[in-house]
Amino acid sequence: MEKKFRDYKFIDKMSYVTSKKTEKCIFCNPLDLVLFETDDIIIILNKYPYNPAHLLIAPKKHIEKFEDLADKDLLIIMKTIQKSVKLLEKVYSPVGFNIGLNQGKAAGASIINHLHFHLVPRYENELGFMDITSGTRMIVEKLEDTLKKLKTNVNILK
Ligand SMILES: [Zn+2]
Repeated sequence: MEKKFRDYKFIDKMSYVTSKKTEKCIFCNPLDLVLFETDDIIIILNKYPYNPAHLLIAPKKHIEKFEDLADKDLLIIMKTIQKSVKLLEKVYSPVGFNIGLNQGKAAGASIINHLHFHLVPRYENELGFMDITSGTRMIVEKLEDTLKKLKTNVNILK
């Protein structure tokens, strides 16, 4: 009897630990700042943007590594990034983009267990690269305003 009880506890703890992982994940359970989503992908605004309209683009699948992406998902993600570039070009007219993936803590990933791409529009008259990467920049636009502007042109992503 006592053994059974202990087994139950073990199972409960395991399900708690595994569910907690994805519950905390901002891509599996986004609280806000969602620009667009389908069954396969999700686009959210980076809460700590390097620049206004800094987007995070992720597969819906909670996977950690780029090499684990299936062919189908690779294509969907790349297509989504391409459409997102078009969206940002229309709404913000940036002069360039950084498109990138940080895999692992050593590479600077802040969310390490759910793969995502950064799409950062670059503008004229920005501060230098070091100011941006050190995270000390002042962002001149509220996240809610960015979201509103992008959502009015969300058709580009479809
Ligand atoms: Zn996730």
